[in-house]
Amino acid sequence: MAKKTLLAAFDFDHTIIDDNSDLIAQVELARTIEAIPEVTGMSFLLQRLYDLNWEIIIISDSNSYFIKRWLESRGLAGIVAKVYTNPGEFTEDGRLKIRKYHVQNWCKLSTRNLCKGHVLETHLATARKAGSALRRVAYVGDGRNDLCPALKLTRDDFVLPRVGYPLNQLLEDHQRRPRATIVPWTSPEQILRVLEGISQT
Ligand SMILES: [Mg+2]
Ligand SMILES: [Zn+2]
Repeated sequence: MAKKTLLAAFDFDHTIIDDNSDLIAQVELARTIEAIPEVTGMSFLLQRLYDLNWEIIIISDSNSYFIKRWLESRGLAGIVAKVYTNPGEFTEDGRLKIRKYHVQNWCKLSTRNLCKGHVLETHLATARKAGSALRRVAYVGDGRNDLCPALKLTRDDFVLPRVGYPLNQLLEDHQRRPRATIVPWTSPEQILRVLEGISQT
């Protein structure tokens, strides 16, 4: 298959899954995770993007145990190239131990433990150094912590904020308007239509 030129970066909570992974405690953790519903149509979207040769990554303030478990339960683990999130480990005494992804002090838009914009830029820089042909990014998210990566995007890129969630409003209010094209969404079908269009250009 030809080298991938398109990158789709997804948030996880309230973007891929229709819930918030913070709420889950220890008891029957795995089964609880697997029972969390997707945003209807999201796994179809991810599968379709993969078939269209998009590189798919997740950048999330959830944790690796949670995301891996959920993706595996939906048969999606193999199509996500990389998951950037807080490392989570289910220890023998029955607790999920979560460490910080990093500790940062350079970005005021982001939380101390995760600057998603930095993660996205580092991903692109590392990929390009390794000979990747990525030339365009579509960033899909909903939350306050998705504003930083949205503002890092360039004129050729797209940011897709979920309607009715904080990112959409923040993008409208923010004085530093993103250079990327903003396409609000309510369903993965809408995202698919936009990204299929990009695939053809
Ligand atoms: Mg979110
Ligand atoms: Zn940041």
